[in-house]
Amino acid sequence: MKGTMRAAMAHRLGAALTIEHLPIPTPGPGEVLVKIRASGVCHTDLHAVQGDWPVKPVLPFIPGHEGAGIVAETGAGVNHLRAGDAVGIAWLHDACGRCEYCISGWETLCERQRNSGYSVNGTFGEYAIASAAYVARLPSGCDFVGLAPILCAGVTSYKGIRETQARPGEWIVISGIGGLGHLAIQYAQAMGLHVAAIDVSESKLSLARSLGAEIVVNANDIGALEDIRRGTGGGAQGVLVTAVSPSAFTQALGMVRRKGTICLVGLPPGEFATPIFDVVLKRITLRGSIVGNRQDLAEAIDMAAYGKVQAMVEPYPLSQVNVVLDRLRVGGIEGRAVLDMSLAA
Ligand code: NAD
Ligand code: ZN
Ligand code: ZN
Repeated sequence: MKGTMRAAMAHRLGAALTIEHLPIPTPGPGEVLVKIRASGVCHTDLHAVQGDWPVKPVLPFIPGHEGAGIVAETGAGVNHLRAGDAVGIAWLHDACGRCEYCISGWETLCERQRNSGYSVNGTFGEYAIASAAYVARLPSGCDFVGLAPILCAGVTSYKGIRETQARPGEWIVISGIGGLGHLAIQYAQAMGLHVAAIDVSESKLSLARSLGAEIVVNANDIGALEDIRRGTGGGAQGVLVTAVSPSAFTQALGMVRRKGTICLVGLPPGEFATPIFDVVLKRITLRGSIVGNRQDLAEAIDMAAYGKVQAMVEPYPLSQVNVVLDRLRVGGIEGRAVLDMSLAA
């Protein structure tokens, strides 16, 4: 008997999470038990708890998929990790390993994947179970609070930027400067791109400016799209939409250059209008993107560990998780909120 741990549990969609004392789980074959040191709070966790998407999470569940911590115990057959190793738990809990997607580096598209904090318990607790083959390696002695946001916000931004195929010296628009967007600005700059930023909140826009975005516009301004087109000399080669509003998806079509690519990663429930004529005649590519594979994750972590990008973090104790979700709902978090398990309740 290992004792108990505190964790935040969702029992009903749309209701507040409850902080509970639960037995510390035991890792099965191929699994590890991770002592969570810090867990980022992604807008996806809010979508999960609200039941926003067509596929609902399995109730009851512990949300969270940006968990950084230390291996506490290894299950049978786990030989490449040992107690004390620093690891990260991301959205992709595990996948089948055998399908056409898994064998081609697209495990994020596996139809049999399981997702942390959605179909299996996640990282809003003092311990979590992970699949040993799918955890990310973190540098030993790393800043767990600072690296946690990389495990979803970071890798999703990094991969999404690459999926626009914008080249160094070209322009990318980052739409939505929240947890994902504030990291996307930094990844894009580190990748040699010129960055324009768009959001509806003045405080998010000043954050974008302080991070070095060269063009910063408020999506609610009448001339917003024209400002971006003019500033980029005819539209951006890439647009990354992280915004949690369907209107931002339609706006993206007004900011992209001929032959450009719009990469969609934001997941507000709903649909958006797509002008067929523009997409066809301007040869626009519209592309969805979901997190990143394990290699993308390692690269995104590497860039953060070497200081090329740095998450702006608001730390909270686990007991404040509902306060965090309420703030996230109204756009009230600057950068990323991170549950720091070392903070007293
Ligand atoms: P966040 O709440 O931290 O940031 C969202 C930002 O969008 C805020 O700054 C908000 O002001 C801005 N915004 C709202 N309406 C806008 C508009 N009309 N135009 C421009 N900006 C607008 O959220 P986050 O954690 O960064 O997540 C963003 C979205 O990405 C969520 O829907 C989340 O579920 C999704 N997500 C997708 C993936 C993926 O793999 N595809 C991974 C992580 C998160
Ligand atoms: Zn996420
Ligand atoms: Zn598979």
